[in-house]
Amino acid sequence: MNKKSKVILLPCDSYREELIYTNLKKGLELLGGLDSLIKKEEKILLKPNLLKKAEVEKAVITHPAVVGAFGRILREEGYGNIILGDSCGTGSTSKVIRGTGMDTALEKLGIPAVDFSEGVHVSYPQGIQAKEFIIPKELEESDCVISLCKMKTHALERITGAVKNSYGFVYGLNKAKGHTRYPSADSFARMLVDLNRYVKPRLYVMDGITAMEGNGPGSGDPVKMGVLLMSKDPVALDSVFSSLIHLKPQMVPTNYHGEKMGIGVWKEEDIVLLTPDGEISLKEAVKVYGNPSFHVDRRPVRRGIWERMAEALNIFQKKPYIEDNLCIRCGVCVNSCPVPGKAVNFKNGKGKPPVYDYKKCIRCFCCQEMCPKKAIKVK
Ligand code: SF4
Ligand code: SF4
Repeated sequence: MNKKSKVILLPCDSYREELIYTNLKKGLELLGGLDSLIKKEEKILLKPNLLKKAEVEKAVITHPAVVGAFGRILREEGYGNIILGDSCGTGSTSKVIRGTGMDTALEKLGIPAVDFSEGVHVSYPQGIQAKEFIIPKELEESDCVISLCKMKTHALERITGAVKNSYGFVYGLNKAKGHTRYPSADSFARMLVDLNRYVKPRLYVMDGITAMEGNGPGSGDPVKMGVLLMSKDPVALDSVFSSLIHLKPQMVPTNYHGEKMGIGVWKEEDIVLLTPDGEISLKEAVKVYGNPSFHVDRRPVRRGIWERMAEALNIFQKKPYIEDNLCIRCGVCVNSCPVPGKAVNFKNGKGKPPVYDYKKCIRCFCCQEMCPKKAIKVK
């Protein structure tokens, strides 16, 4: 890639909708305007991060104020054909957004929140890791996708941002199957990159006003970062996110593979960082907006013979475990485990927490993502 990728950094310290609206408008202007991205007659699908039902303050989902402000801009600029949807980890779009304020904001704007109705098999022979996908019919019928992602940590990929948000384009239960098909962080990242190559979202907007650190993406802790990020390049956007949390961008598999597979760039010298006050160096941005104590996995990637052997033997790897005192025995983890025969199960009866079979476990961390009580940790 010769041209540098633009990332827009918008300082934004609260979820006041007017403030977000003004910021997003400025960001779009810096990117060349909506007209340069989307034709008026196109059918737009807005894709927020709607992992599961949770209070907005917990930073599990893209904040309704960000979604509402972006929808308002689209409407004001004359875009008539817009829907919003996600293939949620648990529940449907309408159930996850009910009572969050996103439902009322969308209603006011006349933007339907759709529950994806059926999966469509699409082949993608150009795929490097994944040559086919089952995607929602509603995505197949859209002309243009805007990704409204959330700034969060992720047990498998270290972070979930722009590239990872696209996993919600895989229809329903096929998401769980994807983890068995692409069990390592690298193969999963390459599949995600192929998915981004296939869907080609036109724009990525990241809600990083309050991010999630620690045990993300479903059970971490909210932490104020005070920024909105926007870019047409998901890798550049995730790279800036990584830098702001003092994580080397190349340590994020979706960044590393994303650049190699041509969807964007992660290197500082290939990115132009713009704020409403003009260009800013990454170093300066990290100094002003970064958080060195952000809780994220910064351990180096090991690729030596011993590490590969340990991986093959399934030892010395990160693994999920259950904190007994927090577990309510709901079985959500068991249901979300994609491994045939289940790698976590009520081996000792439903009166006791489920038990892991680490020999079967592929470390996809779906159980940890979905646990409603933050009872599953990773060690
Ligand atoms: S999902 Fe969480 S709370 Fe529910 S059974 Fe599993 S560990 Fe316990
Ligand atoms: S037990 Fe958890 S981490 Fe292991 S395969 Fe099942 S869902 Fe994935």
